[in-house]
Amino acid sequence: LRDRKLIVQIIPFENRRQILVTHDATESERIEMMRRDFIANASHELRTPLTVINGFLEIAYSQPDLAQETRMGHLKLMIEQGERMQNLVEDMLTLTRLESIDYPLRAESVNVHNLLEQILQEARALSGGRHTISLLVDGPDVQGSSDELRSAFSNLVSNAVRYTPEGGHIDIAWKNGETGPEFSVRDDGIGISAEHIARLTERFYRVDKSRSRETQGTGLGLAIVKHVLLRHGAVLAIESEPEQGSTFTVRFNSPSFS
Ligand code: ADP
Repeated sequence: LRDRKLIVQIIPFENRRQILVTHDATESERIEMMRRDFIANASHELRTPLTVINGFLEIAYSQPDLAQETRMGHLKLMIEQGERMQNLVEDMLTLTRLESIDYPLRAESVNVHNLLEQILQEARALSGGRHTISLLVDGPDVQGSSDELRSAFSNLVSNAVRYTPEGGHIDIAWKNGETGPEFSVRDDGIGISAEHIARLTERFYRVDKSRSRETQGTGLGLAIVKHVLLRHGAVLAIESEPEQGSTFTVRFNSPSFS
């Protein structure tokens, strides 16, 4: 108890005094710190694109005779920054919803084969032919939320595309593992060094901020994955080696984990 800050109230009770621990301030301070960090990070992430958009709007206002080509270039950058803000706000809303205790899991039978076929098409579109992407489906359907599992699996697959240089390989698989069905994404991309791995699912934690932003990353993808898996009783295993690649594996407990 030495490192904890407990708030203790001494309450008289039938001539005796009993001590009541009403509040563990260590935990609430930690939560408060996380909340402050989240707001500070989110504000910072929103401020950057807003600054760019405002800058170009001011140019458009003060220089109405700009060449058409220059104006189109500015508009394109503003659209990109607007999309970045939209992705960020969507991810923040998703995360808040997933964390809310009164947001029950709507479990249904999830057709994993269809789900992964769709994710494969999206990954190929995102890659634009720069990677070889394969899919193996050899596991059962599961009980869970299709929307949430889609978002978790698609975050892991799009990360593999985004952090793998041109010419790389990405293998997506759904199979029976030791404890139950397993979803895995293996890439031979940039990899992650050991000291970063444990922190990857923290909100806004990124190994390389500029690479994440260049590829439309919000820094919230793996935090969303973590919360979805928690709700489904599944766990995430990350194996990675710098410059060799990464494997993200989602392990479910049994075919129906509800
Ligand atoms: P982001 O939007 O930045 O990609 P994520 O939460 O999805 O946010 O991922 C957090 C960080 O983990 C990324 O910024 C990146 O540094 C690292 N990362 C995630 N997936 C991979 C991967 N497949 N290969 C290498 N690094 C990865």
